[in-house]
Amino acid sequence: MKIFRVLGIPVELDISFLILMVFIYLLTYLGFLSLNLAVLITLVFVVVVIHELAHSYVALRFGVKIRSILLLPIGGVSRMEEIPKVPRQEFLISIAGPLTNIIMAMLTAVPLMLNLPGPFRPFFGDFLAVNLVLALFNLIPAFPMDGGRILRAILAERVSYLRATRIAANLGKTIAAMMAVTGLFYNLFLILIGLFIYIGAEQEYQSTLISSLLEGVTVGDVMTPDPVTLRPDMTVGEALDVMFRKKHMGYPVTDGDELAGIVTFHDISEAARDVMVGDVMTAEVVTAAEDEELTSVLEKMNRHQLGRLPVMGDGKLKGIISRTDIIRTLNLMRKGIE
Ligand SMILES: [Zn+2]
Repeated sequence: MKIFRVLGIPVELDISFLILMVFIYLLTYLGFLSLNLAVLITLVFVVVVIHELAHSYVALRFGVKIRSILLLPIGGVSRMEEIPKVPRQEFLISIAGPLTNIIMAMLTAVPLMLNLPGPFRPFFGDFLAVNLVLALFNLIPAFPMDGGRILRAILAERVSYLRATRIAANLGKTIAAMMAVTGLFYNLFLILIGLFIYIGAEQEYQSTLISSLLEGVTVGDVMTPDPVTLRPDMTVGEALDVMFRKKHMGYPVTDGDELAGIVTFHDISEAARDVMVGDVMTAEVVTAAEDEELTSVLEKMNRHQLGRLPVMGDGKLKGIISRTDIIRTLNLMRKGIE
């Protein structure tokens, strides 16, 4: 649910977040929760949105597309395109969030110290505390926190981007392990945070490794050229015969020279044998271009949850590329650098 736009960025509420808010205020109304606590929880979300807006605003200025800021019961997520692998830009985008919190904390500290009266005066203490905690937590130098990205950006000015990511990820994992061990003695919640950081660090390293391995590799390099195609006027029975002979799981459907759709074994397996392929195929096809980079195709596959894409070149079907093709290439290249 889109609620408002700030600086051209839509802020959206997830339905689970709305339910949480209604629930909190219902509990407050019924007297199970103090109003102060309800306000504090609301303040946390307001501060989180401002924090995410700061990241998005700076990212927007570097030309990164922002889809939205989504509020979930666990916090806020900026849904943006991949941040450019330019250390200075990543540094500024990452530091914008915590820095905004520190500035807001300082701005609140002034009226608090001067003891200025005002209608919002009772909430200043909470506002300041929430901002400080959020800034400090995010400055922990570990992925997926901002601190991890800030550290990587600083390191990447001196060593390669991949190496910088590896150092930052390893530091993140060490911090995560220390948190978990401390958690064993003091607070079990720390073990959860440790686990969250550990997984985040490993994921960031893996995805950076993949994109740096695949850099410069195009679809044309790994696709299967001249794929077996089906026609929309074939019956499902005929298509199944082809599938059993060729043993692929998905086929482009062509009508003359034109790409008409794509059909998978899954689409066909539940249809009657005399139904036309044209009626069970997916006509809205997501395609890849022959000269497109593999990283962009992988991202496309993930976004649409697809296992294979037809490859187009000069308006014609040139081949087909599957997730398996990409993984095979990755494994070969990984062997190459080990
Ligand atoms: Zn942040």
